[in-house]
Amino acid sequence: MSRFWSPVVHDLTPYVPGEQPKLANLIKLNTNENPFPPSPRVHAAILAELGQDAASLRLYPDPNADLLKQAIARRYAVTAQEVFVGNSSDEVLAHTFQALLQHSAPILFPDITYSFYPVYCGLYGIASRRVPLADDFSINPADYCDPAEAVGGIIFPNPNAPTGRLLPLAAIEQMARARPDCVIVVDEAYIDFGGDTAVPLTQRYDNILVIHTLSKSRALAGLRVGYAIGQPVLIEALERVKNSFNSYPLDRLALVGAVAAIEDVAYYQACNAQVIASREKLIADLQQLGFEVLPSAANFIFGRHPRHDAAALAQALRARSIIVRHFRSSRIEQFLRISIGTPAECQALVDALRELVA
Ligand SMILES: *Cc1c(COP(=O)(O)O)cnc(C)c1O
Repeated sequence: MSRFWSPVVHDLTPYVPGEQPKLANLIKLNTNENPFPPSPRVHAAILAELGQDAASLRLYPDPNADLLKQAIARRYAVTAQEVFVGNSSDEVLAHTFQALLQHSAPILFPDITYSFYPVYCGLYGIASRRVPLADDFSINPADYCDPAEAVGGIIFPNPNAPTGRLLPLAAIEQMARARPDCVIVVDEAYIDFGGDTAVPLTQRYDNILVIHTLSKSRALAGLRVGYAIGQPVLIEALERVKNSFNSYPLDRLALVGAVAAIEDVAYYQACNAQVIASREKLIADLQQLGFEVLPSAANFIFGRHPRHDAAALAQALRARSIIVRHFRSSRIEQFLRISIGTPAECQALVDALRELVA
């Protein structure tokens, strides 16, 4: 607290990201990073942009990121006017809350979901209602469609985080039809690990905005690139906020690296197929140890052991240099969220848990 703080700062409850430990040799399964390196074409593109003397960094980058928008548009069969890019999908989300979700009526999101959403509500003074997930932790679309309830917008990840559960596209379409006057934001941070993207729905529904990140399925959490796809009116709202905030959110290295990543479809499909195979093996291995694991379409799994406290398990894993994520929130305090690592990392986790639950 300080008399220098503006009133909004007093009331903020900032997001707490998963730990990025400074220690080496930890098996890091806590923030859903990709266990594989980014495409070699990303490395080559960034080195080419740097050149011998990094002279290009003297100049500002393209404020409109045209080449990146065009690459994304080609990849998803939309126009560049339907693409917005930002410095991480968290930034794209922040602009979305301000540009498209800040209305008088409360917005809706699941009670168990990405914990940044309530933080943005606090930052921008947006009222919200948390809609309980069903007992099996799935989203019930009808809960978002009550005609008697005034709603300023809807947002959820698909697959949801931290549950990993996937909502079928038909359910998203149902919400878009039932709520023609508010924007449905589909945060597809994990869609490449087993779901169908809602991008094609943006061609038929002017109220669906899809948000992607290069941090997970493109193995570029360190580059900070995210984007949104929706009809041009939605994109224009995001551009207006972005151009009132930072003209150059993406630096030159991020722009060229992101283009290379978007274009190397085959490389990432191969990596992500391995992540999916490891996920299915890990689920089976943990079930053998007595864990209950939710079905996952993401690069993490969410599970609990009926006879072992999740916080104690997380602590015991940490003592063995393995870090996983544990949330102290109601309904999920007995769950662990475990990112899919390399096959060797998954094996080390299973071996450690086998000893701990024995
Ligand atoms: C990781 C994650 C993001 C943030 O991705 P960045 O682009 O790294 O900011 C957004 N939404 C969800 C659901 C995520 O899990």
